[in-house]
Parts: sequence; C-alpha cells; structure tokens
Amino acid sequence: MPQIELRSIERVFTLGDSEVHALRSLDLAVETGEYIAIMGPSGSGKSTLLNLLGLLDRPNSGTYLLEGRDVTTLTAEEQARVRRERIGFVFQSFHLVPRLTAAENLALPLMLAGIPHGERSRRVAQALKDYGLASRADHRPDQLSGGQRQRVAIARATIMHPAMILADEPTGNLDRATGEDVMGLLEGLNASGVTLIVVTHDAVLGNRARRRVAMEDGRKVEDR
Ligand code: ADP
Ligand code: MG
Repeated sequence: MPQIELRSIERVFTLGDSEVHALRSLDLAVETGEYIAIMGPSGSGKSTLLNLLGLLDRPNSGTYLLEGRDVTTLTAEEQARVRRERIGFVFQSFHLVPRLTAAENLALPLMLAGIPHGERSRRVAQALKDYGLASRADHRPDQLSGGQRQRVAIARATIMHPAMILADEPTGNLDRATGEDVMGLLEGLNASGVTLIVVTHDAVLGNRARRRVAMEDGRKVEDR
C-alpha cells in the first residue's frame, strides 16, 4: 500500500466570476521513504498540491488516501490531528512565530500534542543541539540568519517525528551554499526513512531527488 495515494484530484479556486483550475485530474502514488522533487513554473499548482498533501486544503473532487485512510472526509479537527502527528512542513518564508524564541518555537508542536513539560524540555534541547542551534535557543527569529531560521523550522517540523516532510521552496530565501546545507539536512532525514517531498523551481536542487514530478498548468506532465 502506498503511503500517499491521490486519485483524480481537482482543485478549482473561484475569484469573482473567474475560475482557476489549480489542479486537474491529478493522480499520484508515493511509497514510504521516497524523495520527490515537485518542479514546474510559477502558477503550475505546486503549492496547491503540497497544501492538499499536508491537509491544509481540500480538493473539490477526488480522493486522498493517506496510509490507506481516506482523509478528504475527515473533520477539520481530525485533519489537524493527522497533520500534527504525521506531517512536518517547511516553507520558503520559514513561518516561525516572530515573538517566540527558537526554543519556544520548537516547543509549540509538543505543547499542542500535550507532551508533558519535562519531556518537552528534553526534546527541545536535543533538537537545538542536533541542528547546531544550542547557542541560539533564546534568540527570536529576527535575531537569526536565514539559514538558522530554516534550521529552526526544520527542527520544528521534525520534533514530532513525522512520517513525511513537505517542503515548499525551502531554499527560496537562502543563498546557494546555505540552501545546499538545508537540502542536506532534509536529505539526511529522508535517509533515516522519512518521506520527503520538496517543491523547487531550481533544477540543480530538483536533480538531487530520486524522483521528479513536473507540473504544468495544474497537470502532472512528467513523473520519473
Ligand atoms: P505554484 O506553487 O506552482 O506557483 P500555486 O499552486 O500557488 O502555484 O497556484 C496555482 C494556481 O492557482 C495559480 O494560478 C494561482 O494563482 C491559483 N491559486 C492558488 N491559490 C489560490 C487561492 N487561494 N485563490 C485563488 N487562486 C489561487
Ligand atoms: Mg508555490
């Protein structure tokens, strides 16, 4: 059984009188532990696809099976729970909480999951150490470099040990060297068995993935 299976997914956005067909009859099956780059020009539906995979959005029609279970019919609360427990997100603009320190940003998902204080502190300290951020624990995002912010975001995305990581242009705001470091961290997580799906329009980064899916105008035009 694939970890992820999309069948005939359609996503249409309505803006006033006009309709944008962001995803068209999309099928996709992903096995546990795969590393996939999603590529394609701006506006081709990459973020829409990632948001659907991450249960941040719902399709207009079609089926999404996650670990064999139809997740399109879950309530918003059930979806939030699946998201918390199974899915880690990394975004281009980091999406850290600006007023919280690095340590507090990392603690958030653990708090939402009801992990007790002692265990929480231990896991936050370990994650800060693992990501080379121990000396930045008390810094707020605006006191960190772009690369450090993305490391906090990756640490936050993985602190609940998700089954998959979805990254939307994770290197888009970073210089090449820092971007390669960040990709290396994500690839390290993939090497330990976590499914990794990365949206990028950087062909060099996309070529590092074992499988590349190309999108064009809401359709999957290549998958190899
Ligand atoms: P990409 O990430 O490949 O640049 P997106 O998935 O963000 O593309 O967008 C695909 C298409 O859907 C674009 O034409 C975009 O304008 C449109 N779109 C995305 N999100 C919305 C929304 N919330 N409302 C209306 N149109 C949207
Ligand atoms: Mg996008």
